Amino acid sequence: MVFDPITVFLALVFWPKSKGSRAPGPRLAGPGMSVFPVTVEAASFSNDYHAAAVPGADGVVVARKHLGIDIFAPAGTAVLAPEAGAVRFTTDPKGGNVFYLKGASGTSYYGAHMMGAYGLDRVVSAGEQLGWVGNTGNAATTAAHLHFQMNGGKTNPYSKLRELSDAHLARKMLPTSRTVRRGAFGGTT
Ligand SMILES: [Zn+2]
Repeated sequence: MVFDPITVFLALVFWPKSKGSRAPGPRLAGPGMSVFPVTVEAASFSNDYHAAAVPGADGVVVARKHLGIDIFAPAGTAVLAPEAGAVRFTTDPKGGNVFYLKGASGTSYYGAHMMGAYGLDRVVSAGEQLGWVGNTGNAATTAAHLHFQMNGGKTNPYSKLRELSDAHLARKMLPTSRTVRRGAFGGTT
């Protein structure tokens, strides 16, 4: 892509502005993801990408890192397509019921441990339901969650997930929290 001055100008003017005081740094997630992959209100997650190595059966710590983010939500919560693209479903011993989504932007997504897939392999739009949160595969003894990873685990989805979650919750909850605050604190902020 050639960056002519007009393109650069438009990019600077329309580049999404981050809210809050997120530290500057490289974008860690692809530009194509526009929908939080689980019903936001029900979800909780932390930055457990590349979390601690897992001890092997003999107690030796092996270099096995967590390649995604675990999004915890009650079993049966909707799993949603993070962007438009082609989805296919399969089952494997580790992931249980999983989806692979090749996004229109080129970013690929993988989600595991679903209770089940919603519908068949197909082209989906952003936000379309893909399944339900569960604990299939090697999450059988774990609380229900969606193991969510991007680009084969090479990209940390955390910052983008946090951004989408915060933006969504701010939109939904701002009027309510204002009302509560006004009542609780007599109009001061
Ligand atoms: Zn996981």
